[in-house]
Amino acid sequence: MPKLDRSDFKYNAKVFEKTCLWCGTVYFASRSTAKYCSSTCRGYANQAKNSEEVLPYDETDKMISALLSENAYLKGQLQRYVFENQQLQDKLNQQMPPKD
Ligand SMILES: [Zn+2]
Repeated sequence: MPKLDRSDFKYNAKVFEKTCLWCGTVYFASRSTAKYCSSTCRGYANQAKNSEEVLPYDETDKMISALLSENAYLKGQLQRYVFENQQLQDKLNQQMPPKD
């Protein structure tokens, strides 16, 4: 994870405040040539160079959380239908007791 924290550096170390070219996070780097806040961002940026279709990870995170909440919603729906189905089954069994 990117850190906005100088404590990882020696007090007299040269520290460069940089903005990640991938995610836009402001971070401190020990090299003036650093471009990304983390190896994760560098990896995504390299992937994006090779393929235009790769989304920045914040977009992917949004998609994942959207899918997770949709998933949770569908699970709730499913549980409700299972419950209703069970109630209908019970009603049916009361009206038409199963023959032995
Ligand atoms: Zn980054």
